[in-house]
Amino acid sequence: MKRIVIKIGSSSLVKTGGKINNEFIYTLVSEIAKMIRGGLDVCVVTSGAVASGVGKLGLSEKPKSLDKKQACAAIGQMNLMQAYEQAFDVFDIKCAQILVNHDDFGNRDRTERMTDTFKRLFFYGVVPVVNENDALAVEEIKFGDNDTLSALVTIVTESDLLVLISDIDGLYTANPHSDKTAEFISRVGKIDETIEKMAGTSDSSVGTGGMITKIKAAEIVTGFGKKMLIFNKSGINSLYDVVCGKEEKGTLFEPTERNLSVKKAWIYFCANVKGRIYVDKGAEKAVKERKSLLPVGITGSEGGFSAGDVVELASEDGNVFAKGIVNYSREETGIFNEYSKTPNSKRVVVHADNIALSF
Ligand code: GLU
Repeated sequence: MKRIVIKIGSSSLVKTGGKINNEFIYTLVSEIAKMIRGGLDVCVVTSGAVASGVGKLGLSEKPKSLDKKQACAAIGQMNLMQAYEQAFDVFDIKCAQILVNHDDFGNRDRTERMTDTFKRLFFYGVVPVVNENDALAVEEIKFGDNDTLSALVTIVTESDLLVLISDIDGLYTANPHSDKTAEFISRVGKIDETIEKMAGTSDSSVGTGGMITKIKAAEIVTGFGKKMLIFNKSGINSLYDVVCGKEEKGTLFEPTERNLSVKKAWIYFCANVKGRIYVDKGAEKAVKERKSLLPVGITGSEGGFSAGDVVELASEDGNVFAKGIVNYSREETGIFNEYSKTPNSKRVVVHADNIALSF
């Protein structure tokens, strides 16, 4: 293992009443320091901006309106970063703030810039501390929960493990707060409907995501071929030992065998999808056998895609079986399709190297 992303939920970082939990941050950072001394690159995804802003303003609860929440995030983000910087200073480690929105992952150029920034920070031995840019996020560009954000950060930083630190031990067969028969699950191989049903809802009053968003994050991370661990904040002192495999705690989601390249994981999990191309059975078979999509197999399309955009590839009955970067606009693919029965119509509409198949 070379690189790890650690996501910390609001309930671990901010105490009831909205004060930053400096003791917790110090202990977390001391565990991260051990990882860094051991040669790992570490990236932190932090929540807690809104919750801390609520405390700073002396509000009794998290506001409902967008402008108030955004103001809280802008105030609380500074508090948070101060707390991290002070803690990292003790261990002589530098940290850096990166604020992003969902939209930043959707566009290939912007994701590449982000990737370069992360790489450079790791090269300098700096710990990136990432949060959503809540102060500017509006519905269309926001994640809303940092579980999903941390899964995409795991892709762009090409990390081997995502640890979600929360106020729960991990996955139970039912909600352990309301159901006494709930049993703990320490390992999850395949995420299927049974696992999704177990997810229930979170009891945390300060965080945004519940177990559902954690399962969604696990689908992304394990689909990328990496591991994800849900870890209780109460065991923070042993985080290093758990990450190194000396101790077992929490629920570990095992990687699928998919092992996607970063580019294919980006196509499948991050990119903004701009349209859909329908194909016949022959083309579906060819694409599933890792061949490129040629005009001859196209039966229809929808959406206003241009060359370089990511589109879904679907069978005629609408079943999406892959996503890929298209080499031509929708207009052009339509024109090729009309002439596709001619023998020299060999234009590659979506190249095999740019296709990520569904599970
Ligand atoms: N980005 C939000 C914050 O810093 C937290 C989102 C979440 O709880 O997942 O307050």
